[in-house]
Amino acid sequence: MAYHIPSDETVLKSVKNVFKKYRTVSSQRKLKKLVEKELKTKKKQFHVSEHRLRNIVLKSNLVDIEIHSREGDPHKILARCPVCSNSLQRVKNLTIWGGEVTIEFRCSNCGYWTGKKKRIPTLYVFHLKK
Ligand SMILES: [Zn+2]
Repeated sequence: MAYHIPSDETVLKSVKNVFKKYRTVSSQRKLKKLVEKELKTKKKQFHVSEHRLRNIVLKSNLVDIEIHSREGDPHKILARCPVCSNSLQRVKNLTIWGGEVTIEFRCSNCGYWTGKKKRIPTLYVFHLKK
């Protein structure tokens, strides 16, 4: 069976339907499966990538995304947010006594942040906003 690519609007509609049934979806893969099930019709099967789905969900403001992560390579340079691909803002913190600088990166779009040890997202949990 051929796969069809749904529009953002269609995906969003299905996301809303999913969260009418579930308050929490415990992973991105699960959400993708649930959404694709909602999208499916008798004749057509739809495909939406996890990355695209996450961005649509983020934009919808309907759902809070809880990001679980592991520590990554501190030397790796993160130019873009690993969650939503937005550009990251560099935030410097000067400590009063030592003059040491700790650097954090923040995403103004989705709330992702990381310190020197890069946080690599490993799991996304979706909660319907109250
Ligand atoms: Zn982001």
